[in-house]
Amino acid sequence: MKFIVLTIFPDMFTPFWENGIVRRAIENGHIATEAVDLRLFTRDRHRTTDDRPYGGGPGMVMKPEPLAAAVRSVKERIPSARTVLMSPQGRPFHQHVARRLSREAGLIFVCGRYEGLDERFCRNYIDEEISIGDFVLTGGELPAMMIMDAVTRLIPGTLGGEGAAEMDSFAEGLLEHAHYTRPPEFEGETVPPVLLSGNHQAIEQWRLETSLIRTFLKRPDLLENRALNREEIRILKKWCDEIERIIRSQPAPGADPLSGRQ
Ligand code: SAM
Repeated sequence: MKFIVLTIFPDMFTPFWENGIVRRAIENGHIATEAVDLRLFTRDRHRTTDDRPYGGGPGMVMKPEPLAAAVRSVKERIPSARTVLMSPQGRPFHQHVARRLSREAGLIFVCGRYEGLDERFCRNYIDEEISIGDFVLTGGELPAMMIMDAVTRLIPGTLGGEGAAEMDSFAEGLLEHAHYTRPPEFEGETVPPVLLSGNHQAIEQWRLETSLIRTFLKRPDLLENRALNREEIRILKKWCDEIERIIRSQPAPGADPLSGRQ
């Protein structure tokens, strides 16, 4: 996978590429990276990449010529690369989008700045627009890093022994189970005994249950949009029954537990 970023701030990417799993993925040849300075594709003395908006209004707009020249130059080297515009108006970025992008041979990330980019460039050079959320940042560099990070860890071999992407949150439409590490006791709290039992089947069962309950409590929307399997339904029903039992065991159902307190 080759990542090419078109930006007016190429230096922002150096620390990102020089650390952690991304760095190792580069060293092991799983990904190759390049930050292309858009100013190199300008023709004027001042290396201008932006100009005032036609029709007036605040802010500046990125000029189409340097952007187009930069994309053309990258495409000459990697014709199949997909050109992705970072934009708050794009389609939301999700794990399934990361998975799809991880199958591409090359990705060109176009990082906007100021008020945005000339529309004629977007119409003719962009394959898709991606947003990382419903908020507005000052530039597309951080979104591009986020997407590269999410895509990198899905490329086979990049995670090594440190984890498996297929067990992460969202991989199966659920949030991942809880994690514990040493010490066995921390500030009076112990690790769930099942995790120390050595019983792998019981551990898997516990993980599935915590995964389901976290998803139910934190992101019930994920459960609503997912086909549950038989075991998952059984676990959810078990909790329903347990909650039902607790409610039924109330001496005076519906009484306000705080009433009567001083
Ligand atoms: N005026 C634009 C609008 O309202 O849609 C926002 C421009 S923003 C200040 C500058 C650049 O930051 C955008 O062109 C885009 O590349 C990037 N950007 C900002 N928020 C983003 C988001 N949520 N997702 C992806 N890119 C974003």
